[in-house]
Amino acid sequence: MTNPVILPATFNDFLGNTTAIEHLRTAIAAGRLPHSLILAGPNGAGKYTLALMLAMAVECERQPRELRSYSEASGASGQSLASFCGVCHNCTRIASAANLADEVDKAVAAREELRETDKKETRVLVQPHPDVLIVPPDPPQLLIKLGQVRTIIQRSHYLPSEAPRKIFILTAANFMKEAANSLLKVLEEPPATVHIFILAENPGELLPTIRSRCATVRLGALPVEEIEMLLADRRPDVAPKQRTLIARLAQGAAGKALGFDLEAYTGARADALLMLRNAAAAASGGSAEPDHTALFKMTETYRAGAEGQQKTEALLRSLSLLLEDLLLLGAGTPELVRNTDLRQELERLNGVLTFAWIEGASRGLDQVQSGMRRNLLRSLSLDSFAGQLAMSSR
Ligand SMILES: [Zn+2]
Repeated sequence: MTNPVILPATFNDFLGNTTAIEHLRTAIAAGRLPHSLILAGPNGAGKYTLALMLAMAVECERQPRELRSYSEASGASGQSLASFCGVCHNCTRIASAANLADEVDKAVAAREELRETDKKETRVLVQPHPDVLIVPPDPPQLLIKLGQVRTIIQRSHYLPSEAPRKIFILTAANFMKEAANSLLKVLEEPPATVHIFILAENPGELLPTIRSRCATVRLGALPVEEIEMLLADRRPDVAPKQRTLIARLAQGAAGKALGFDLEAYTGARADALLMLRNAAAAASGGSAEPDHTALFKMTETYRAGAEGQQKTEALLRSLSLLLEDLLLLGAGTPELVRNTDLRQELERLNGVLTFAWIEGASRGLDQVQSGMRRNLLRSLSLDSFAGQLAMSSR
């Protein structure tokens, strides 16, 4: 079950990054929005939300403008900023794709229904509007593939049918090699009626030749205090102490903070802690023997299949945050620790586990995670990874 996703009603309701957004709105109002745009920023910063809002502003039937008498961001006066009405037929259709995860699930399910031969040829695409195509990484490899880029190229040759422009939103920056090379062609000479948005957590992953043909707009992380205020306002059910914890764990991403499931996180984290405690017991030797039975019982609860995979991913994410916190303690920057409620336990673990061990564990974790992304390993690798952690600390 996912929370319903509702887009902010106006650009002014989008949190943070005011300057960047004003520049984009000014560009749209002046008809100067770059044809190829990279929206860069951490997971949860609102890249996808903003991409949809920009698409609405470009395609809105009413093209509302907000006149800013004085802009703090640019110091300019009399600026015209593009907005969207949110109710016209173009706006509502684009907004219907607000919950990307659900839309991708639907597209994947539709593909499963196809005959085997067609399945292989069919790439996952989301089309909320005839002129707006959303291109997510194609499962199971979760890469943007040649077939998807070919669809973009093919459709970009046609004029928009119901809206002023054709918009393509690529929701990630991980491409298969041929797909990236193929995308270059359309970026070299984009048709006048086409806009391509590429959403990137790490633009460095993109080919330099792609980056050089796009304008890049960075969405920065929000300060912890701002996220705490946002949580106090939008999620009054969350206790103040938990707000601080969520704000830290969300790492500056407003969307991530608002949707944060603290109960699920602490559940996954308890299992991750068990792995670390075992490793610490093995490292210190003597009195506290590692409890292999508890470890085995825990990994046993991680089964194969989609649900097990999600559970495993949550465990690995929380383990990765714990390891990072240990590194922060080791580096003498305890004020940056995210798992603020576990400070004492983290200090204790940090006293037992060596820096080299923590680094080694982080590297091992990276490998398991990239294996999971390629869908190669499931609960089996968790077993051996958990075992490895306990052994290598001796
Ligand atoms: Zn509209």
